[in-house]
Amino acid sequence: MTLPETGERKALFTFGYSRHSDQDAAQPVRRRVVVVGAGPVGLAFAVDLRLRGFDVVLVDDADRIGEGSRGICYSKRTLEILDRYGVGKPCVDKGVVWKIGQVFSRDELVYQFDLLPEDGHKMPAFINLQQYYLEHYLVERAAELGVEIRWRNKLIALTQTNDGAIIDIETPEGPYKLDCEWLIAADGARSTIRALMGLEWRGEVFEDRFLIADVKMKEAFPSERWFWFEPPFHHGHSALLHKQPDDVWRIDLQLGPDADAREEQKPENVIPRIRQMLKHDKFELEWVSLYTFQCRRIDRFVHGRIVFIGDAAHQVSPFGARGANSGIQDGENLAWKLALVLNGEAGEKLIETYNDERSAAADENILHSTRSTDFIAPRSRQELRFRDAALALARKTAFAQRMINSGRLSTPALYDSALSTPDRDKWNSPARPGAVAPDAPMRDAKGNDTWLLDNLGGVEKLLVFPNGAALPKVDGMQTLVGGKDITDESGLAAHRLDATPGSAFLFRADQVLAARWRKPDSAAIGEARRRLRGEMLP
Ligand SMILES: Cc1cc2nc3c(=O)[nH]c(=O)nc-3n(C[C@H](O)[C@H](O)[C@H](O)COP(=O)(O)OP(=O)(O)OC[C@H]3O[C@@H](n4cnc5c(N)ncnc54)[C@H](O)[C@@H]3O)c2cc1C
Repeated sequence: MTLPETGERKALFTFGYSRHSDQDAAQPVRRRVVVVGAGPVGLAFAVDLRLRGFDVVLVDDADRIGEGSRGICYSKRTLEILDRYGVGKPCVDKGVVWKIGQVFSRDELVYQFDLLPEDGHKMPAFINLQQYYLEHYLVERAAELGVEIRWRNKLIALTQTNDGAIIDIETPEGPYKLDCEWLIAADGARSTIRALMGLEWRGEVFEDRFLIADVKMKEAFPSERWFWFEPPFHHGHSALLHKQPDDVWRIDLQLGPDADAREEQKPENVIPRIRQMLKHDKFELEWVSLYTFQCRRIDRFVHGRIVFIGDAAHQVSPFGARGANSGIQDGENLAWKLALVLNGEAGEKLIETYNDERSAAADENILHSTRSTDFIAPRSRQELRFRDAALALARKTAFAQRMINSGRLSTPALYDSALSTPDRDKWNSPARPGAVAPDAPMRDAKGNDTWLLDNLGGVEKLLVFPNGAALPKVDGMQTLVGGKDITDESGLAAHRLDATPGSAFLFRADQVLAARWRKPDSAAIGEARRRLRGEMLP
């Protein structure tokens, strides 16, 4: 059995450095949008903006992906976004689809959950996929769309200006400068941009150390998330098991705050732990590392024309799979707003709503992540007593099962947003203004199977459930008419939206519901659209 040394595993995908003519310019060349960081978040954002027709320069200090092992779980909402970007299918085809979680206390099952009990959604509740595959698909798509990716281009300095930022970039052939109309900081948890701007983190650092091991083996366990509190094979701590593609299994073992990182990563220490868990030694270690984590954020995500997304703006523990998922959702929230601003269709204050909406989402993620972490790794005797009592009760009563927190998994944020039009009618649906549109199976005009979200796409749209009355007329509004453009044969779309004949739903370009009416009129729709451009903002 061989264990590659941490940090020395061969990169899965490498890309070369190449010189760009911007490096030879006498004056810094002005670019509309420069994204720093080709992690999953920067890549996904660049793809979104490119799909909206804008030139995007994406710089990254590395020239490879796949050296480490990080994210594996991607949520339904993220998959829906990735699908719109053109990479949902390869991710789902390659990934391990799952929706069931089992939680054990010692060796007894105490709780089981199903993250998507109903049918009628294009995307599954979750997939497991090594982060380097996700990044690889995104790099391919970005390149195909013409995003200019500049590898081995490291941002080393920046000067904020009234209309953007001038950045200094180091390359193997020396430094150069770029003049950015907008600078998007997607440079991860160690964000250079954050450090250069002197922005402080606010939040908590957790001391417990966790060992992750990616283990290659043929195993017949089901594709489910299995979590143990104090299992017999790992006394006093917690353990987590996830299946990944290529017969790779992710094992997460809590080691406590005093674990010695160097010692614990040695094969002679890792292998016995895993042998004890699996009760055999027919496995190969593919990757081992130790990590601690933080639940924290910077105060503001928007600083003039410098905007932070992903880990550069906020970080969480991995237990709810909220890191990359929420970062990709940041990018989606920002892209359509920035596109309107760049097109001159909205003022810059629209970008403030990115700050408001995604700050609230980050707070929610941090809250969930902190609570999960406190439950998994209690920091006081009192927390431990509460945890043990909840686990003991959960064996006997259903209500205590809801207190078991092995990581509440990523769900999309519900925006309490100044862009949403308050309801004037009564509705009975969780899909309310500020919520992502629910998906549903539909038929297109030719009678082919299709999905509601595919038809909403990435543009602002009005969905009308007609009742025979004349449709409201709104200039320049893209409209989907039920029974004509798409048909809701199963009735699931109407059910999930609580639509009645005559209802209309206005969706933002990120598929979030902005407004709904039982009896729409052109004036109300026009006003809701102006609100979406930030015209009602104070
Ligand atoms: C063990 C573990 C498990 C996890 N599991 C999950 C999970 O299941 N699901 C999930 O959603 N998330 C998970 N996460 C979190 C996820 O990995 C991160 O949230 C995600 O990588 C953040 O993406 P990002 O693009 O914001 O940042 P990063 O992935 O860190 O990318 C930042 C990029 O910026 C580049 N860069 C940095 N500085 C500069 C500079 N000065 N100039 C140019 N480029 C620069 C870096 O090279 C890098 O490519 C997990 C994390 C860990 C550690």
